[in-house]
Parts: sequence; C-alpha cells; structure tokens
Amino acid sequence: MLDSKMYTCDQHLDKAFDHFLDENEVFPYLEKISIGTCSYCDCPAKYVLSVTSEDGHTQ
Ligand SMILES: [Zn+2]
Repeated sequence: MLDSKMYTCDQHLDKAFDHFLDENEVFPYLEKISIGTCSYCDCPAKYVLSVTSEDGHTQ
C-alpha cells in the first residue's frame, strides 16, 4: 500500500492534484491542515493529499 502524502498551498492545489494522480493513479483524500510547507513553493501548506484518510478510509 502506498503511503505518499503531498503538501500544497492554495495556489498549487490543482498542480498537486494532477501530480498525485500521475504518481498514485487514485484520487487523493484531501484534508485541510495548518502545519507543513507546500511541495511547490515555500508557502505554508493548506492541504495535504494522501491515499487514505487519517481514520483509515480508502478513497
Ligand atoms: Zn505552493
């Protein structure tokens, strides 16, 4: 099972979404976060894209 997570700010959400689909071939579970740094710039991350949610549901 893949466990890749991708952090992104508002501006790079679309880009992260596409990138995530390319890498994992599944739609990401999207969560709002208040910590972390965007993978594409140095802004604080607003979202994390992951294969599964924190409570274990598979998207
Ligand atoms: Zn960004």
